[in-house]
Amino acid sequence: MSFKDLQLNRPILRAAAEAGYDNPTLVQEKTIPLVLKKKDLIVSAQTGTGKTAAFALPILQLLIDDQDAPRNGKKIKALIVSPTRELAVQIYDNFKAYSTYTNLRSTVVYGGTSIEPQKDVLKKGVDILIATPGRLLDLHKQDVVNLDYVEILVLDEADLMLDMGFIDDVRKIERLCPKEKQTLLFSATIPHKVEFLANTILKDPERIEVTQNASTSKDVDQLLYYVPKRNKMELCLHLLRNTIKGHIIIFRRTKFGVDKLEHTLLKNGYKVNTIHGDKSQTARQEALDQFKKGETNILIATDVAARGIDIDDLDAVINFDLPNVPETYVHRIGRTARAGNLGKAYSLCSADEKSYVQTIQQLIQLQIDVVDDHPYPLDPKAKPIVHKSKKTGSKHKKGRKSEASKKKKKRWY
Ligand code: AMP
Repeated sequence: MSFKDLQLNRPILRAAAEAGYDNPTLVQEKTIPLVLKKKDLIVSAQTGTGKTAAFALPILQLLIDDQDAPRNGKKIKALIVSPTRELAVQIYDNFKAYSTYTNLRSTVVYGGTSIEPQKDVLKKGVDILIATPGRLLDLHKQDVVNLDYVEILVLDEADLMLDMGFIDDVRKIERLCPKEKQTLLFSATIPHKVEFLANTILKDPERIEVTQNASTSKDVDQLLYYVPKRNKMELCLHLLRNTIKGHIIIFRRTKFGVDKLEHTLLKNGYKVNTIHGDKSQTARQEALDQFKKGETNILIATDVAARGIDIDDLDAVINFDLPNVPETYVHRIGRTARAGNLGKAYSLCSADEKSYVQTIQQLIQLQIDVVDDHPYPLDPKAKPIVHKSKKTGSKHKKGRKSEASKKKKKRWY
């Protein structure tokens, strides 16, 4: 199928061609026709599937068709709500590129940065607004944003939005928009709470599911290192010195963990950038830009800060901490192996994280290869890991009792 088959008009086709898109991705094939039919949608698709263009291209087309409608100045016709600042900026960059050959104007607003320049742009009028929830409500309160003319509302990364505690803000924003509108909800997964939100705000929605999990994980060479918690830092340094080269993201579960690893890597002469929720927006954007330009080759990030950010050409992902939510593992490793390249994912697993490996393996339907030939094995006396069965996952000789089952882990971004 080509973009032409999707009934997109010329300015949009031209922009898609210039972005280097030959054919629509699966989520685009399924989503674009329904958006053009003005349907409400629940789309289950992860970042990396081309989901941004799946809503951005048809939204632009609908707004172009509407351009000649009589009106006074520019009104916000499409509102895209995104949980994180980086994601919002990325969506904005996409809209800007795709609208090159239209007269449509878009802008992005997010917290953690001065509000005045954002107000100035909004006062001039835009057709499309991309926003994080808190800043959007602030601007609305200050009467700079008028949502009375919104025709299309997009809730992107809805599961993350709810995980981050934005549910009340999202509901408020939805109520500030007109009742008669088209609503598109995108979410990597559709847990119960997302389903509930969708049921209460969408009208007779169509469902689209694009599961990319299995194929993504199969394109990645995945390796697992069992290591005592206290030796993770040394093992990470050992791998960076001897094994892992190129453009790398290292994931840690907490901000504190990110800072600690940054400190150690800097001390060891590595050039690194970090992103986590406590950094100012400017610092996060700067870190991301430097990494994307190749000025640094290691980015250390928490999941929430990194989620949805489009970083291409990664050579490897290191899971310094294993995620306790298995889908997060899939998101992380999906960043490598993009565009058909074979990526590498290295996971460092301490005793208390062993149970996470099992749930991850169940999800990806794959046994992760264990590397036990390294200087910091979990149990130096015994051969640490014995692979037995494809079905049941790895069997551990004299495995210490998993602490994860005793301790309930808190999510902490
Ligand atoms: P997304 O899932 O929206 O974050 O998109 C992931 C990446 O896929 C981005 O770098 C897009 O520019 C790229 N992309 C989106 N649509 C296409 C397409 N039809 N063909 C090739 N690449 C695409």
